[in-house]
Amino acid sequence: MSTPENCTHDCGSCSAACDSRGMDPSQFQEKLSPESSVKKVIGVVSGKGGVGKSLVTSLMACRMRAENFRVGILDADITGPSIPKAFGVHEQIRVTPDGRLLVPAETATGIQIISSNMILDHETDPVIWRGPVIAGAVKQFWSETYWENIDYMFVDMPPGTGDVPLTVFQSLPVDGIIIVTSPQELVSMIVTKAVNMAKKMNIPIIGLVENMSYLECPDCGKKISVFGESHVEEVAKENEIPVLAKIPIRPEITKSVDEGTVEYVKAEFLDTAVEAIKKL
Ligand code: ADP
Ligand code: MG
Repeated sequence: MSTPENCTHDCGSCSAACDSRGMDPSQFQEKLSPESSVKKVIGVVSGKGGVGKSLVTSLMACRMRAENFRVGILDADITGPSIPKAFGVHEQIRVTPDGRLLVPAETATGIQIISSNMILDHETDPVIWRGPVIAGAVKQFWSETYWENIDYMFVDMPPGTGDVPLTVFQSLPVDGIIIVTSPQELVSMIVTKAVNMAKKMNIPIIGLVENMSYLECPDCGKKISVFGESHVEEVAKENEIPVLAKIPIRPEITKSVDEGTVEYVKAEFLDTAVEAIKKL
């Protein structure tokens, strides 16, 4: 059945078994705790793993924090969490004195982070949970955490268009997503799949970030297109979304992430992305 003409998108008060049923994100939304406040929620997604979602999440959070906003990161990559390590955070999760809410860890510059790695006995323990438990953890990180006056919350996702992105899109009031790609990925259909998922679920796309776009010669500064010419502009045009950034491959980025000092990476390439977030 197609969507009725007089559709108000309030599936809760309508019994029509139409195509849009289940695609209205607000009907499944989880509430924040009464003492929490989050103004804007930005999801960071990609088609594949290893393209730099966690890096973009971390660097965007740092840039917004550097402008004195209150920033949070919800690490929704439950089985492959990488946010605490990038920030050098090794503490276990704490709870409020009444035991009701989780308390995020705070990074050196004051970014609030919550991650499945903070609930493990050992950082190297694997999270061996089935889908519903993982989805439950993501929701809990949103609704049962004390998020104190957050201006911008970045949600670092696992790759692809699976269960967790679906949970986040349905359960959190996502204001927009940043799609991170690599030059190799752009020639395939994976990015378009991520774009189409967001469109189907009425999630605004802030834009596309091409990571590992080129290599900068440390001696002469020349840009070397390691993966061939970039297709990011074409893909962005095809999907009618803006290009927010082209991030170079820099060995010092890998090193900082490994050493837990991502807060000290200079990320001038994110200027346009920062402006786009501020306009949300
Ligand atoms: P994802 O979250 O998409 O799986 P990550 O952000 O964890 O990807 O990146 C994968 C690895 O590549 C990490 O070790 C990261 O530090 C490194 N990396 C990502 N982007 C760059 C870059 N532009 N320059 C150097 N290293 C990078
Ligand atoms: Mg990641």
